[in-house]
Order: sequence, then C-alpha cells, then structure tokens
Amino acid sequence: MSLDLSVVIPLYNEEESLPELVEWIERVCKEHAISHEVIMIDDGSTDDSWEVVTKLSREFDAVKGIRFQRNYGKSPALHEGFKAAQGNVVITMDADLQDSPDEIPELYNMIVRDGYDLVSGWKKVRYDNAVTKNLPSKLYNGVNRRISGIKLHDMNCGLKSYMRKVVKSIEVYGEMHRFIPVLAKYAGFKKIGEKVVQHRARKYGHSKFGWERFINGFLDLLTIQFISRFGKKPMHFFGLFGTFTFLFGFLFTLSLIYDKIRLGDNFGITNKPAFYLSLTAMILGTLFFLTGFIAELISRSAADRNTYLTEERIGWDK
Ligand code: UDP
Ligand code: MG
Repeated sequence: MSLDLSVVIPLYNEEESLPELVEWIERVCKEHAISHEVIMIDDGSTDDSWEVVTKLSREFDAVKGIRFQRNYGKSPALHEGFKAAQGNVVITMDADLQDSPDEIPELYNMIVRDGYDLVSGWKKVRYDNAVTKNLPSKLYNGVNRRISGIKLHDMNCGLKSYMRKVVKSIEVYGEMHRFIPVLAKYAGFKKIGEKVVQHRARKYGHSKFGWERFINGFLDLLTIQFISRFGKKPMHFFGLFGTFTFLFGFLFTLSLIYDKIRLGDNFGITNKPAFYLSLTAMILGTLFFLTGFIAELISRSAADRNTYLTEERIGWDK
C-alpha cells in the first residue's frame, strides 16, 4: 500500500512540544484521511526528547524516530529524514510548534492536486523578535530572490511540502536547508509555489539559530550559485578572471618596457604605479589559473562527476 504523506521533523532539545505536536498532526491527518508516517529526527538532543519520541512511537503507529549520536544540525537531520521518507508527498515542519499542522492538508493538496513540485510556507505575519529575526530576514530574502531568481518571500521557512521525487533528488548538507528551493531548482524542478502559513510564537524552549545565520546563509548562497554554475567546469570561472587579470598586467608591462626602451635611463620603472599594478595583476592572474586547474582536477576525480538526474526512460524492458 502506498503511503500518502511523510511528515519529517528535525528536532533538537524540544521535549516539551513533541507530544502536542504529534497529537495535532495525527488529528489533522485522520480528519482528512491522509495515510501518513511521522519521522522524527533527534539531532543529538541533551534533554529528554528521545525518551518522548520513543514513548510517542509506542503510542502511535505512524511515529518513527531516528536519533543522531551528536548534534549535527538541521540540514543533516532533514537529509536523514528525506532518505527514510516513503510517502508520495513529504512535508517538513519544525518541532517547536511554531508551524501549525493545520496547514498540512492544503500543502498536501497543492502537490497532488495542483501539481507543484515544491511548496514553501510563507510566514507573512511572524511572531519572532523584530530586530534579530524579522527585519534581517526580509533583507535576506530580498537578496536571495535577486541572486537565485526564485520568487519566494520566505525561503528558509521550515514548513514546506515536496513531491517525493524532489527530496530524493537533492542533497541537503552543511547548512543548506535554507536553500532547498534553490537546490530543487538546480535539480530541474520548476514548479515551485508558495503558501501563506500561520506562524506562532515559540511556546517552549528557545531558538537554536542566532544572527550568524545571515552571514552563513549569504556565504552558502554564493557557494550554491558557484557550484551549480561552475561545479563541473571550474576553469570557466577561474580561467575567465585569470585571463583578464593576466592580460591587464601584461599590457601594462609591455607599455613599461616600451617606455624604458624609448626613454632609457630617464625612465625609472619602479617609480611608476603601473609597475606595481602590472606585477600584482600578473601574479593574481597566474593564481586564478592555478586555482582553476586544481579545481578541475578535483572535479574530475569527484565520485559523482558523471551522475545525472534523468526524468524518464522508455523502451528499456522490451
Ligand atoms: N534544529 C535541529 N538541529 C539544530 C538546530 C535546530 O534539528 O542543530 C531544529 C529545531 O529543533 C527546530 C527546527 O530545527 O525543530 C528550527 O529551529 P528553531 O526553531 O530554533 O529555528 P527558528 O524558528 O528560530 O528559526
Ligand atoms: Mg522555531
């Protein structure tokens, strides 16, 4: 029997909210007759979260748990959850009750009925600290939209739903959970939607992410952009800069040599700014090239250098 839905929940020290969360999910899924599993990934909690998960899994058939040996982070937790998920649709939500399980049916329907590959929640009205979270988040999402070209208001929202194939095609690692829509886009999934979702204030515990998220997030976005465009051909990136920088330096050098020949001893090369400019530019250009070659060597020996996602195959079992 195929399963309609997998709810994937990464959690780190969230013991107080888990029972309420699971009961709520069970109630909603039952009401809407959605067959489901709830996969709870305990990301190395130091409180009693795992005991609570164990208890819940005895109580409810749908509940399954995975426990990390230590705290790895939200992305690794999602990755393990995605690997284990068996439902046709996968919904992720935070464990802290800030996301409402009442959103499940509509998020589910937008995948199966409307044919979206991915639907991201949008916490239009937010109950977090304005200075540390809400304002920076607006700015951040703006930059994100510009760079990635994905028109989402709230890319990092923990509440999202996916067609099963999407989560099986992407690899969430490091802190890349903030950019799952970008990863999905680069994996070739085009129908990315958005749904305004209710957001609630944190009732128990405290947030696990501080202001550093914005700096890390920005760096991660650059990495994703770079890897998706040049990951398999790094020389096209480094070589381009290398060529321009080197040529720039080389032309200056030529003009310096020309002047030296023309003016002889009256021309002190090392007194000229152009001398230092050309020196730096030529060294930088060479470094760009070296980096490019090394990057090519690395990508050539990467285990997944010839792994591609195929959409369909036909006529192979004749
Ligand atoms: N989380 C996790 N591992 C971590 C940090 C957070 O699994 O290292 C979980 C956390 O328990 C919660 C979700 O990720 O279920 C979102 O975290 P949080 O609520 O702290 O983030 P915020 O809502 O403040 O953005
Ligand atoms: Mg939260």
